[in-house]
Amino acid sequence: MENLQAIGIEKSDCNGHFKENFETIAVRTQSERTQFQEHSVPLYLTSSYVFEDSEDMRAGFAEEKERNIYSRFTNPNTSEFVEKIAKMEGAEAGYAFATGMAAVFSTLAALLNSGDHIVAARSVFGSTHGLFTRYFPKWNISHSYFDVNKPETIESFIKPETKILFAESPTNPGVDILDLKLLGEIAKKHDLILIIDNCFATPYIQNPIKFGADLVIHSATKLIDGQGRVLGGVTVGREDLIREIYLFSRNTGPALSPFNAWVLSKSLETLSVRLEKHCENALKVAEFLEDDEQIGWVKYPFLKSHPQYEIAKRQMRLGGNVVAFEVKGGIEAGRKFIDSLQLCTRSANLGDTRTIVTHPASTTHSKLSEEERLEAGISDGLVRISVGLEHIDDIINDLKNALNN
Ligand SMILES: *Cc1c(COP(=O)(O)O)cnc(C)c1O
Repeated sequence: MENLQAIGIEKSDCNGHFKENFETIAVRTQSERTQFQEHSVPLYLTSSYVFEDSEDMRAGFAEEKERNIYSRFTNPNTSEFVEKIAKMEGAEAGYAFATGMAAVFSTLAALLNSGDHIVAARSVFGSTHGLFTRYFPKWNISHSYFDVNKPETIESFIKPETKILFAESPTNPGVDILDLKLLGEIAKKHDLILIIDNCFATPYIQNPIKFGADLVIHSATKLIDGQGRVLGGVTVGREDLIREIYLFSRNTGPALSPFNAWVLSKSLETLSVRLEKHCENALKVAEFLEDDEQIGWVKYPFLKSHPQYEIAKRQMRLGGNVVAFEVKGGIEAGRKFIDSLQLCTRSANLGDTRTIVTHPASTTHSKLSEEERLEAGISDGLVRISVGLEHIDDIINDLKNALNN
């Protein structure tokens, strides 16, 4: 973590080989204790840091010393958060952002030049699609989409100008799975930077670097926070690339706030325990929906009926907490179902303790044309459920009542 980490945080030399187990990293990676000997890490609400003398100041700015200068660059709370995620993902370095989208934008903007080309899976997060289609063309950066169900076509989209291969797995909101090993091989063969948005899996469930990813992005707003409180984002991976992203961000200012970093680092302490339960509940919800006659289809990575079940089992520890399904009867039946829920919340977030149900076609993906939505695998009746931590019987009862209404 050369220069990127605040003083007092141990260097990670994981590279995919954990010195400690995941749960121990989550709980024990912590900023150095202050003279007050606090047990739990304090909140460092400070915009800047003090220099001993002019020589200290010069050396700090020249990056001859690893030290905090200004919280747009580094802060002990954000460094602790980054350090944990980097260790969990087996990454060399990282940088934390105010939101997941700030992470996506800054990572791509730091690495791309005018004239460059991105190859991406068509099923990407709505705002990422917005970046590719509405904003990057302003800087002469183009993209081509491949169909998640036709990975054999990926190479046909690669051009001499292609620099980045970008994908999410599982995808939002369709819960499709991409073969990370295959993506890693293609990126290596064509000398592309492979970037994986690992938001739906979290570092507990899936580690894309093991399969050849150069960079891994998370929206920490989702399962990493896990309680619907703060926004955050992070990119971890190859040190040379993170260096570019860090310098870009240091100048452009998308840094994560120390308060949010403190909350998120605390959240990571319980990530594994929360996810075990989230995923157990989600599998039960998926199994319940699969057996219900009013449901057209159900997609959950760890259901045998998922088209990429074998790949999911190879690269994921658990199936995640998101289930996609279609209520028979199209858009009207879907809306009636959502309106009849009593316990599950209608909200735009996901990865919360509270079970959340959304209708992507009329909300998160409403800016896409119907054709674009269908190409991204989002039918009008598709419902996405982010399964929470309420008692499983209560979640299923609510779904059952809403379906029978
Ligand atoms: C939510 C989300 C993002 C954006 O994260 P924010 O923190 O909301 O900016 C990016 N990618 C995926 C897959 C997401 O689900």
